[in-house]
Amino acid sequence: MSVTEAFAPGAIAKKPLVANPDLFTTKPSLIGLTRPQMAKALHEKGVPEKQLRMRVNQLWHWLYIRGVSDFDAMTNVAKDMREMLKEHFTIARPEIVEEQISNDGTRKWLLRFPSRGAGRPVEIETVYIPEEGRGTLCISSQVGCTLTCSFCHTGTQKLVRNLTAEEILSQLLLARDRLGDFPGADTPPGAFVPTGERKVTNIVMMGMGEPLYNFESVKTALLIATDGDGLSLSKRRVTLSTSGVVPEIYRTGEEIGVMLAISLHAVRDELRDMLVPINKKYPLKELLDACRAYPSLSNARRITFEYVMLKDVNDSLEDAKLMVQLLKGIPAKINLIPFNPWPGTNYQCSDWATIEKFADFINQAGYASPIRTPRGRDILAACGQLKSESERMRKTERLAFEAMMIAGHGEDDD
Ligand code: SAH
Ligand code: SF4
Repeated sequence: MSVTEAFAPGAIAKKPLVANPDLFTTKPSLIGLTRPQMAKALHEKGVPEKQLRMRVNQLWHWLYIRGVSDFDAMTNVAKDMREMLKEHFTIARPEIVEEQISNDGTRKWLLRFPSRGAGRPVEIETVYIPEEGRGTLCISSQVGCTLTCSFCHTGTQKLVRNLTAEEILSQLLLARDRLGDFPGADTPPGAFVPTGERKVTNIVMMGMGEPLYNFESVKTALLIATDGDGLSLSKRRVTLSTSGVVPEIYRTGEEIGVMLAISLHAVRDELRDMLVPINKKYPLKELLDACRAYPSLSNARRITFEYVMLKDVNDSLEDAKLMVQLLKGIPAKINLIPFNPWPGTNYQCSDWATIEKFADFINQAGYASPIRTPRGRDILAACGQLKSESERMRKTERLAFEAMMIAGHGEDDD
């Protein structure tokens, strides 16, 4: 498809807030490469072997500590080297189609990435929720999803494509740009950000897509986000949410080591087969075995179990009892998410009183199970039910979104 076709009426037509001059570039990005990959890319463009380590360290510092998105800002890199880099590579940020800022400081960016074979450029959303002591960024891993969880709007959309490691990581870099979260940058006037030094303190992989069906790219992006010589986020403040891709849960523990959230949603195989169809492949027992084996669990490092509250489907006290039995022995928090309805769904959100009763039962059994009330958020499409069209958020969406995002993901603060 040509550039004009991609922007023909009916295609993606919004004028970007911040354009990416390299949207249609064929130059590879240096962002999202592991150190060896970056060294190889530089070597192929003529950087001598003995300089590679130094050059990679230099670039790593500029890209991930200083947060530059322009080669000319790399002041200690010689001009001819910068010209060579410019000629062969890009480090541009994705295009911002739209940025919405809520009264309470929540921000949502609609980002556009190149098509990379998907026919036309793709759009995804990234959401930032600031609180007193933390700022949580909700990141997408795919455009659409191959799984078909029956209550999830993303599940009704076909997978368009996986995001690359660069695109996953760029969501963090861009958020930090916009929040003035790199050294020497100013926070936008009036912005609500946490009181500490960092504006983005936590990441949740809870946007669009199933991160464990895009394992390699998610792994690379998260290892760069948590690299101590670069972006330096603590692995305890990064949470990956999965519908239960069991083999990759083991790999996540061994190869990435971030916190885990499981989209549980049902405590009986029969029902979970319907709600979260991947359960047919990896039933509850296998899923919970993988959870039990997850490395370094403790009371301060618990697995989050997400549970969407569906009226008369999974919200009985019997379900709550079964859940407590099922999770026995696993350091867990249970995140009750009010269902966020979407056009065409047959499900309804449980009554508030039912949710409270459910939560009380679980609390009494010794599990934290926060449900949050809304803080008047006036923008947003919710994570986990991101749509291709950006639209204003309704009250039910806000509830669902908040429950998911803020219910204590990451290591306990206290
Ligand atoms: N694919 C991954 C991560 C993205 S979904 C996963 O399934 O875990 C993030 C969370 O949003 C999941 O727990 C998902 O089940 C939940 N979710 C999806 N649709 C929802 C809806 N309509 N209302 C409330 N939560 C929903
Ligand atoms: Fe995909 Fe997660 Fe939605 Fe299931 S809940 S369809 S895995 S995005």
